[in-house]
Amino acid sequence: MKSLNRVEISAAALRNNFAVCHEHAGRADILAMVKADAYGHGMLNCAEIFINEGAKALGVAEVSEGITLREAGFSQPVFILAGVIPQAAQTIIEYNLTPVVTDGIAIKELGKAAAQNSVIVGVQVKMDAGMGRQGTLPADMLALVQQIEDQESLYLQGVLAHFPLADDRQSTNSQQVLETFTKTIEQIKLLISQPCSFHIANSGGLLYVDGAGFDMVRPGISLYGCYPDGEAGRSVAGSRGLEPVMKFSTRIIQIREVPEGTGLGYGHSFVTARPTTLAVLPVGYEDGYLRKLSNIAEVIVNCQKVPVVGRISMNITLIDITDVADVQVGDEVVLLGSQGDQEITADDIAGWMDTISYEVLCLFGRMNDRVFQK
Ligand SMILES: *Cc1c(COP(=O)(O)O)cnc(C)c1O
Repeated sequence: MKSLNRVEISAAALRNNFAVCHEHAGRADILAMVKADAYGHGMLNCAEIFINEGAKALGVAEVSEGITLREAGFSQPVFILAGVIPQAAQTIIEYNLTPVVTDGIAIKELGKAAAQNSVIVGVQVKMDAGMGRQGTLPADMLALVQQIEDQESLYLQGVLAHFPLADDRQSTNSQQVLETFTKTIEQIKLLISQPCSFHIANSGGLLYVDGAGFDMVRPGISLYGCYPDGEAGRSVAGSRGLEPVMKFSTRIIQIREVPEGTGLGYGHSFVTARPTTLAVLPVGYEDGYLRKLSNIAEVIVNCQKVPVVGRISMNITLIDITDVADVQVGDEVVLLGSQGDQEITADDIAGWMDTISYEVLCLFGRMNDRVFQK
C-alpha cells in the first residue's frame, strides 16, 4: 500500500506552461530544465512531455542525471550545467552529453576522450556576466574559447550566462548583465568560424527581460507553474497564465475533541483558546512538510481553509477543524493545490516557510510518492 501522503503531477498543466514559455520565447529554442528530478516533478515524465511539446534540449546539473535520461532513451542534447570535472570527461563523451565548462580545467580531458572515441564534441562555456557564482569572467573568455578551439576534437558550440536578479522586475541589474554578455559574445564571434549558440535566460529572463531570448532560453520554474517572483509575476503572462502542476495531499487519520486550554504537541507551542476539534494528519517534516510551517500554514479540508496548530513533528501534523462540518477519518486534506474553489499555492507555502517556491516543490516532490496524471 502506498503512503497516505501523495503528490500528483498534472501533465496538462506542464503542457500549458510549456506553451506559455514558447509564446514568450518567440523564435528562440527551448532547453527545458529538468534538474533536481524536474524540480521534484519527476525528470523522465516531465522530459517526455517537454520534448513532445517541442523542447530542443534538456538541462540537468550533474552527469548522473544525464545518464538517467540517456538510459531512458532520450536522444536530444542534454546539457550538464554543473559538475564537468576532468574525471567526468570520459563518461560525458561516452553518453553523448553536452559539457558546459566553467573554466579550462576539463578541456584537455574532454579533448582526449573525444579523440579516443573518434568524435568531434561541441563544448558550451559558462560566462560569469554578473552572477558572481560560477564560470569565467568576461575578460578571460577569449583565452578560454581559444583553448577549446585549439583542441582538434572540440569546438565551441555555445556560450551561456545566468541572471542573478531576473526575478526582480524593478532592478536594472539584468540590463547590465545583458550588456556585458552581448559585448563579450561580439568579441567571441570574431574568433570562431562555426555557428555558435548564445543563451542567458532562465524563467525570469524569459518572462521579464526584453532582448534576453538570443538563440535559446532555459526555463525551469515557469514550466512547473510558478512565476520567479511569486504571484506578482502573473501580470506579465498575457492571455494565458502559468498553471500549478503539483498537488500534495494527505488523509485524516484521527479526529478528536480537546477542551479549552489544551497544549498541543511538542513544546505546547499552541494552547487551545476554545473547545477544539482536531484532525490528525500523517504528514510531517520527513515528508518535506517542514517544522517551519508549525502554527502558520493552512490546509484545505472539505473545501475550507483551516490552520495548522501546534508543532509539526516527524510524521504528525494537527489541524483545527472546529469550524468545518462533515469531516471524517479518511477524508482528503490538501496541503498544496486546490480543492473546490480553495487553493494553496507553492508561493503561499514559500511565504510561510520564508523561502521560494522552488524549494517547496523540490521538497514535496522528492520526498513523497508521486502519481503522474496523463
Ligand atoms: C536552474 C537554471 C535555470 C532555470 O532557472 P529558473 O529560474 O528555474 O527558470 C536556467 N539556467 C541555469 C544555468 C540554471 O542553473
